[in-house]
Amino acid sequence: MFIHFLTKENLAIAALTIGLSACDTSTNQSSLVENDPLVEHIDSNILPKDDFFLFANNGWFKQHPIPSSEKSNGIFQTIQDSINADVRKICEQSANNTTSKKGSNEQKIGDFFFSGMDTLSIEKKGLSPLSEQLKKIDGIKSTNDVISVTAQLQEIGVSPLFSFYIGQDQKNSSIYSIYLSQASLGLPEKDYYFNPSERTTTIRNEYVKHIATLFKVMGKDASYCDNKSAAILRLETDLANCSRKMEDLRDPYKNYNKMSVADAEKNSPTLQWSSIFKNYKLTNIDTVIVGQPEYYKGLESILKKHDIETWKAYLTFNLIDEFASDLSSGFVKENFHFHSTIMQGVKEEKPRWKKIVESTNGYLGELIGEIYVRDYLPKGAKEKMLEIANNVRSVYAEHIKKLDWMSEPTKEKALVKLNKIGMKIGYPDKWKDLSALEISRESYVSNIIRTSNWHFNYMLQKWGKPVDRSEWNMTPQTYNAYYDPTNNEIVIPACNIIVPGYENKMPDDALLYAIIGGSTIGHEITHGFDDQGSQYDENGNLKNWWTAEDRKKFMEKTTLIVEQFNNYVVLDSLHIKGENTQGENIADLGGAIMGYEAFKKTPQGKSSEKIGGYTPDQRYFLGFGFSWMIQQTDAALANQVMSNEHSPASFRVIGPLSNIPEFYAAFGIKEGDKMYRNDKIRVKIW
Ligand SMILES: [Zn+2]
Repeated sequence: MFIHFLTKENLAIAALTIGLSACDTSTNQSSLVENDPLVEHIDSNILPKDDFFLFANNGWFKQHPIPSSEKSNGIFQTIQDSINADVRKICEQSANNTTSKKGSNEQKIGDFFFSGMDTLSIEKKGLSPLSEQLKKIDGIKSTNDVISVTAQLQEIGVSPLFSFYIGQDQKNSSIYSIYLSQASLGLPEKDYYFNPSERTTTIRNEYVKHIATLFKVMGKDASYCDNKSAAILRLETDLANCSRKMEDLRDPYKNYNKMSVADAEKNSPTLQWSSIFKNYKLTNIDTVIVGQPEYYKGLESILKKHDIETWKAYLTFNLIDEFASDLSSGFVKENFHFHSTIMQGVKEEKPRWKKIVESTNGYLGELIGEIYVRDYLPKGAKEKMLEIANNVRSVYAEHIKKLDWMSEPTKEKALVKLNKIGMKIGYPDKWKDLSALEISRESYVSNIIRTSNWHFNYMLQKWGKPVDRSEWNMTPQTYNAYYDPTNNEIVIPACNIIVPGYENKMPDDALLYAIIGGSTIGHEITHGFDDQGSQYDENGNLKNWWTAEDRKKFMEKTTLIVEQFNNYVVLDSLHIKGENTQGENIADLGGAIMGYEAFKKTPQGKSSEKIGGYTPDQRYFLGFGFSWMIQQTDAALANQVMSNEHSPASFRVIGPLSNIPEFYAAFGIKEGDKMYRNDKIRVKIW
């Protein structure tokens, strides 16, 4: 049985996982034969040659339907449950300790959690924690006021109309630059505003109802609700019209338009950046990087097209929608109805504690991470992951040297870049200092506002300072990972060591190298060499290091993977967007291959001994299937295909494996089988 490990067991499982070295595994293999989760996930009614994803995982899916309070179930949910159990303990213990020092991490975590659980106070306060912002919006008289209030909303994490960001300069990664990009829209992606399909039309109609209902809960009259909700959709459709779609945001050069502040203002005169920067107390700004100049040009005419009352309603809606899940029950209910039920197919709300644990972890993740690492992370987790990471990197190097399509000069450059990839594994050496952040039991919404404002100010204070390359953008208790092209580094948080189901036994190297080596570390390293990452050099600068001929060959290969995924149908007529997902698909394919090759160097990888009836190679590929053991509601699937750059889980298994000859050999895949792809169209990049 697949066990959801909760509370204390988490530590034990991870400890077992990381305590193991390759040699230990071979001596303990007999203990794996019984109750081997990997084997228990299998649905033997399905043949590997027909649908390897379901073969590997459907046994588990049948036993574990999606809970009505979730949009998905599987490996991520199981690990998240385990992390939530630990974080819940951190939150509750902190909240129960009323004597902790004011300003300490415990005090902040405890009071934040307490304020979120204090529904009585939340109900009583109603909209009062937002009264300052609502008053500002109410006082708007001109389009200049619209922009100035929008700029102020950005300071508390509400970001309509424009996106302002201070980050490393893509062409000179050792300095910070100011980025002005197109804003995110109310619906997840541009396509939602124009797609004529029945599914998307329904969502648009529901969205208008959602806006109207939020206004109604605020106490606005019926005609205001009807008129303004329709006007807001028209306004957002105009914004969507001048926004780039996701695919068109993939070219880093097209998103890099460095210009003087004066030129940026000339492009959209109502956006007086210099006065916005002055209000942010930023000085000495010569240039900005405008991501999508045509968006700002378009925004200029949209600002004039809609009347002031519509703009006020639009900003009010943005403010309320951002905080709806944190306000009184009427707002929470409508927020859940639209954002969870309509958009993700979730039937009922999570228990309050879970919601507030996730929110506390979301806002104060750095503080919780410090305690999580100290009290919940077993010693040695970092070392085991680093060992796998180094092994994956060394097979990567061997692999690059052997590539038949790349010339020597480009190979040399690729190897320099590979060897320079920074590896942040586990948790940061130094923690962010949040001492200036004030948290109290008084008001949940005020706590959120102050925390978002702290993060905004943290970003502002970077301006003019040397780049801090030691910074982490993910907490240790986040089951995820990333590659940062401007730092040329992979970041793998500590909790990635968790392999669900292995409470009383150790996962064998086949699993560890599939899940941690392939799907996580190999995947992230490959991002340094995907359609986007490959355009950055070893120092994180957007700078070509390829010969023209090699780049051309690379592009031919990426075209093949785009075509492969374009052909996958997810739901009725909904196809994967091959171009939009290519970076992730390239990373999945590279990860699967590198994890496999690193595994082949372990004692288990070299042996032929079966465990649970499966050979080492078969276990590796089953483990790869396990790393994406996720089932989703149809609504969540559709949402993902339309707005996310990751392919749905099943295709993250079927897609890469059907390109790998060693997988064919392991499961006897032959011409004519559904998992078979002709040699001519099989993709091999890295
Ligand atoms: Zn990725």
